[in-house]
Amino acid sequence: MKCSIRKAAVIGSGIMGSQIAAQLANVGIATLLLDIVPKELTQEETAKGLTLDHPAVRNRCATSAIARLSKIKPAPLYDESFASRITPGNLEDHLAQVASVDWIIEVVVENLDVKKRLLKQIEAYRKPGTIVTSNTSGISINAMAEGCSNDFQKHFLGTHFFNPPRYMKLLEIIPGKHTDPELIPAMKIFCENVLGKGVVIAKDTPNFIGNRIGTYGLLVTLQEMQMNGGYTVEEVDAVTGPAMGRPKSATFRTLDLVGLDTFVHVAENVFGHVSDEDEKAVFATPDVLKGMVERKWLGEKSGQGFYLKK
Ligand code: NAD
Repeated sequence: MKCSIRKAAVIGSGIMGSQIAAQLANVGIATLLLDIVPKELTQEETAKGLTLDHPAVRNRCATSAIARLSKIKPAPLYDESFASRITPGNLEDHLAQVASVDWIIEVVVENLDVKKRLLKQIEAYRKPGTIVTSNTSGISINAMAEGCSNDFQKHFLGTHFFNPPRYMKLLEIIPGKHTDPELIPAMKIFCENVLGKGVVIAKDTPNFIGNRIGTYGLLVTLQEMQMNGGYTVEEVDAVTGPAMGRPKSATFRTLDLVGLDTFVHVAENVFGHVSDEDEKAVFATPDVLKGMVERKWLGEKSGQGFYLKK
């Protein structure tokens, strides 16, 4: 089997969806980028007298994601003109278009119910044989596809890109128990040769490999060093970032980049699957993180996290 992918649909145009769409556009793949219809107007839209059914509002999430791409540093697009390969739209009006693509990637919020509902919606339009993957950070691939048709489950697997997708070479491929065994190497070759990734095949266990280890490291650093140890955010980052030869991946800078809401979901996923008391203590979400999420201090995407975005 060979994966020949010329057209793709990315569903979810947040931090990862928009940058995955950029990565596909970078290698010449025409990409549909869909997101849900906003339920509220922004102040600017209200001032302009727009209504919720105005096309500019209905397409807002995906359209603004493309505008955001040109501002993200380091640049997600090899060349700004490649943005023209991405077609933004709202999910309600454009989901039927997934019938014409070769690869559908689910990149919505890290929540099993939301993802399951979306996969059922996709199933209604997707052509048999079309590859569907999820960018989940660690939710079970088998659980997500439960109740979908045999053909769907045969062509469904996890493709977990790391943030930022243009620069992080690692990509985990996570087959489900019903994934066609021939699709796994075909997808691996495609991701390596066309997307330039270093692919690791991971098992469908909570948070797979990278995030099972990464979440643990981040939580231990947050709890033991910063909260219990009394070190400042800057001190911890000075040691866990550039001084360790990881210029972009200091602890708190990484949490802000990932998004604190997403990180809490990812940590909770492991917490819900471990029974050992010591492990539970590590993966329990610290109150400080919960409080920040409640205040909408989500990191770079909201302008305020552990750092204030300048
Ligand atoms: P995000 O919060 O930035 O974006 C999520 C997007 O999904 C939003 O634009 C939201 O409007 C949209 N959405 C929500 N429900 C939807 C639905 N039913 N249909 C269509 N769109 C919907 O989140 P993110 O950081 O981009 O994460 C997306 C996925 O990627 C999650 O599963 C996350 O765990 C995973 N992931 C995140 C990172 C990271 O560093 N942030 C890294 C790897 C994987």
